[in-house]
Amino acid sequence: MSQTQERDRSTLPRWDLTDLYQGVDDPKIDQDLEELEAKATSFEESYQGRIATGECSSAELKKALDEFEDMIRSSTRVGSYASLHYSTDTTDPKRGALLQKVREKSSRVSTKMIFFDLELGQVEDDIFAGYLKSDLLAPYRHYLKVQRENARYHLSKSEEQILEETANCRGRAFKRLFTESVSRIKYKMEIDGEEKLLNQSDLLAYNYHPDRKLREKATLSLAEALEQNVPTLTFIMNTLLAEKEVMDRLRGYKRPESSRHLDNELPEEAVDTMVEVCVKNFDIVEEYYKLKSQLLGLDELFHFDRYAPLLETDESIAYEKACQIVLEAYKAFSSELHSLALPFFEEGWIDVPPAEGKRGGAFCAGVSPDHHPYILLNYTGKPRDVMTLAHELGHGLHDRLAARNHVLDYHPVLPLAETASTFGEMLTFEKLYSELQTDKERLALLCEKLEDTFATVFRQISMFRFERRIHEARRQEGELPTERFNELWQECMGEMFGEALTLGEPHKWTWAYIPHMIHTPFYVYAYAFGELLVLSLYARYKEQGESFVSQYVEFLAAGGSRAPKDLLADLGIDAADPGFWQGGCDLIRANLKRAQELAARRKND
Ligand SMILES: [Zn+2]
Repeated sequence: MSQTQERDRSTLPRWDLTDLYQGVDDPKIDQDLEELEAKATSFEESYQGRIATGECSSAELKKALDEFEDMIRSSTRVGSYASLHYSTDTTDPKRGALLQKVREKSSRVSTKMIFFDLELGQVEDDIFAGYLKSDLLAPYRHYLKVQRENARYHLSKSEEQILEETANCRGRAFKRLFTESVSRIKYKMEIDGEEKLLNQSDLLAYNYHPDRKLREKATLSLAEALEQNVPTLTFIMNTLLAEKEVMDRLRGYKRPESSRHLDNELPEEAVDTMVEVCVKNFDIVEEYYKLKSQLLGLDELFHFDRYAPLLETDESIAYEKACQIVLEAYKAFSSELHSLALPFFEEGWIDVPPAEGKRGGAFCAGVSPDHHPYILLNYTGKPRDVMTLAHELGHGLHDRLAARNHVLDYHPVLPLAETASTFGEMLTFEKLYSELQTDKERLALLCEKLEDTFATVFRQISMFRFERRIHEARRQEGELPTERFNELWQECMGEMFGEALTLGEPHKWTWAYIPHMIHTPFYVYAYAFGELLVLSLYARYKEQGESFVSQYVEFLAAGGSRAPKDLLADLGIDAADPGFWQGGCDLIRANLKRAQELAARRKND
């Protein structure tokens, strides 16, 4: 990094968390934690044993739910502060200690609250039906229904308590071991005749480098490091697969992915349909990479050429410019969204620059309905960073719109949680695209967009199929050797590229560092769901204009207060209809066609 860049970064805005707490030593933190524990104790004393019997009137149950909701809000407030503050300097032991303290306290509080959802599942059917009909309980109707669904898979209270208290030394411990093992890895790479040790994000940035030799070197370096660490990573994966098999068996889930569907409030058929349709459309990916190898002038395209840039540019976009682009894109769509976006920039809700000890990547944290969200970025001025700002701001706007719901209905389910973010990216992409002057620039941006879409749709579907296969293989074949994981990985990822791209030997290790499959099994399909949904929504916006905007805003404002099936039905969408998913894939195909035409025009120039 040059000195000017260093200076530029130091002037970028940091967020201001003082509207939560004043610092790690703020006495209010301990006070709030103690108050929370006292509330949980009195909650347990008042209601334990009385929910299951159905002896509570609707008014009493409403009071209990209000108290429950209030405790969750207080606990997320202090929990958010601890983790947000930690995320901007993970090397500060004081921040780490605060995070750990808050987590341990929260665990103690949540064991006092475990009985509540369990007992809701034990209420007799006719009494529960009465609760669902009660006007008084209407605000909690969705929550009650979902808890009832979940209850079918609950174990007894003492079993659940043992599971919660030992989770930190079972699955959760192996997940933490994964995070620590992977973040400790340093990648050896020779750059300009000098051997360097890189961290993961600096290494992966070479995937986008114009120099093919460097891209290949980075791939080999990744493979070498993963191969060295793979005995531990294989052990972790096998252990988690085995634990999930046991838990699924005890709780009675039919398929390895069933518990994820339940959390996502989605019927199995809808997800299966989406996956089938995506697989049928893998040829889009194959076609595209044939075009890309022509554009790059390569006879054989390798895995490390996937993200090779078509346009060499060092142009850096100033943060102020990025804000302007994104805000204008939102303003052209809806003045309401634009005004909801302004405070993020004006009131210090965004932490912008990369910094020593700050965690990588980007996220938006929606604290609770009565407190605004925060956004963390690592802004470096790349066009991709502008899209990331649009993405995280989309999450932030979704949170602000959904703030009319109580905290139990605040967050949308995962497959809908990426709607506003992806939609925001689409608005920004179209704005950037419309301002380009030459076909060459248009083609480059369009190809970047297609590659991002593939990564979000088809790659995630391939990972989902890989996850399915490893869970099934572990259940049928017992503990799996590394080679078996490698083989299934190459098979699943290869299907997507067809003949257009050679994965190569080094690629076979790359299943081993992907966090989602470890931390949240089957999370990945939510990305594909969200992206395909947004493609369809965006097409509707183009068709319907203004009248779409209010419908869309209403959809976001519902947060997690209704089942996705009902929310989508309001927009005239049926997720179990293969035609709906095919529509989304057709839009990706249309963009491919756009790229092919631009490429043909360029050739004729
Ligand atoms: Zn997101």
